[in-house]
Amino acid sequence: MKIPKKFYLYGLPVQIVIDNSLDSMGQAFPQEYRIKISRKKCKTRASLEQTYCHELLHMVLLNSNIVNKYKLENGKELWLDEDFIDNVSTLLHQALTMTSGNITAKDFKLNKKNYGKRTKRSK
Ligand SMILES: [Zn+2]
Repeated sequence: MKIPKKFYLYGLPVQIVIDNSLDSMGQAFPQEYRIKISRKKCKTRASLEQTYCHELLHMVLLNSNIVNKYKLENGKELWLDEDFIDNVSTLLHQALTMTSGNITAKDFKLNKKNYGKRTKRSK
């Protein structure tokens, strides 16, 4: 899995930087639009990727328009629930890395004749 140096949320750049002074494997800094990952704490490539997915999910949920819609029983916002973030990001990492085969651009090539028409499946 490739970890980018930067990605965009609503057009705003989020930087991913390596910071070996962190006390944890990674941390999201929403106000700075930055994710920091400790290469020192992440001993394997898989743990580096998993940490990226974890921090990415924090950033995505915080920046989603539904962030205030789902509050936990203790009043905390969902994007701060470490159990939720860890479970979902672990599954996200698995879905992105434990794969088989690739769909190519050719597989998505649309027939000009049918372009724009609804098929039975797209109802
Ligand atoms: Zn976290």
